[in-house]
Amino acid sequence: MIDPKTVSLIHLGCARNLIDSELILGRMAEEGLLVTGDPEVAGTVVINTCSFIGPAEKESSDTIRAQLERKARGELENVVVAGCLVQRYRRKLQERFPRVDLFAEISDYRELAGSIRRLSEGDRVPRYLEGPVEREPDREGARLLATPSSYSYLRISHGCDHKCTFCTIPSIRGGHRSKSIESLCSEAEELVAAGARELVLVAEDSTAWGRDIGKRLPELVEALAETEGLHWLRLMYAYPNDFPWELTTLLREHDRVATYLDIPVQHAATGVLRSMARAGTGDQVRRLLDRLHDEVPDITVRTTLLMGFPGETEQDADEVLELLRAYRLTRVGAFVYSPEAGTPSFELEGRVPEEEALARHARVLELRDTLLAHEQEGRIGEEIEVLVDESSPHGGVIGRTERDAPEVDLIVRIEGGDAQPGELLRTQAVGLDQEFNLVCSPVKGDHE
Ligand code: SF4
Repeated sequence: MIDPKTVSLIHLGCARNLIDSELILGRMAEEGLLVTGDPEVAGTVVINTCSFIGPAEKESSDTIRAQLERKARGELENVVVAGCLVQRYRRKLQERFPRVDLFAEISDYRELAGSIRRLSEGDRVPRYLEGPVEREPDREGARLLATPSSYSYLRISHGCDHKCTFCTIPSIRGGHRSKSIESLCSEAEELVAAGARELVLVAEDSTAWGRDIGKRLPELVEALAETEGLHWLRLMYAYPNDFPWELTTLLREHDRVATYLDIPVQHAATGVLRSMARAGTGDQVRRLLDRLHDEVPDITVRTTLLMGFPGETEQDADEVLELLRAYRLTRVGAFVYSPEAGTPSFELEGRVPEEEALARHARVLELRDTLLAHEQEGRIGEEIEVLVDESSPHGGVIGRTERDAPEVDLIVRIEGGDAQPGELLRTQAVGLDQEFNLVCSPVKGDHE
């Protein structure tokens, strides 16, 4: 018997969208709906979509179709679509997916949850929920956390004022709006009280935090790092230009601030950076990395690279490889340029043949893995602190080091022991697995 009041959510996309998924889940629970993690047993399925680039958009569309096929087979009653795909295409999506029961733009999701409850009670509801032009940057509502209890994401601002020519995000998430330091501190306390030992700060451009409210990011990082019970505060999505250099003191010296920085540079060649409308030149990217390593000697830098951008030459692609080698970049996410309608780069000439773009992308990943294998082999024998995230299906537990952000970087496999999520273990690195993840053993006396 299908129960439309049993609801499940399929999350797609980035960590910022995951916070929205957690918000939708929280709102639905507040409405008295029964939330399940298994869409197969739900009568109503919500898909929180992503549409950043072509492949992500395809995944969203395929997921919607799959759930509509289940509905057609009588396996579920309602299909609800929310998130970035709705925000990007608005009411046009109703024509593309006429059998979807409810569409919702990005909002605080109160109205969405109310509509889903009424839908589950058999009431007729408006099929399309518009969101505010720009969502208020205030305190997030109650979230049903979907990450392991050891860490949580904390969004510090919404939107982005940059105009990168390949990016759809400003058109989806709007201009930059900082959340207040007070609301962020109280959110941090709540998340740590719920068990998080690590808070991962996310935004479209985290370094822009405070510019619209007369503050600067280091002030926020210092305040959040005072949260009782917190172990690591991790900074993601920094933008290379106008970097708040006071931050390096906190990265280097503050016990609770992870000596880690995610700073997407996108490319290393000046010509390509210019056509991407990224502020700064290749030399400025290199000088930034030089200064980061000078001021924070033990820093782990994560970055993101986009290969195959229109006009990119073989020499430009080689400059990216040289950047990886010169700065031993091992925490690297790399994408192949995807021409997105509505973005300025869509009209650019000099498209790189797909085969060539894929080959350049593959060379970046290959070099990254070579550098990573060397770095990880060098850590065997070292004593390493690990934050436990979850138990492993193969026995033992899985965790991460201070050098690894959740979901995008590496994990640590800890053999034996039954430590709980959120515990910090002293371990010794004894080997690597096939993906260059460290394999560790608990140090004697530490949770054997
Ligand atoms: S800074 Fe990031 S989110 Fe903003 S436009 Fe550029 S790529 Fe997009």
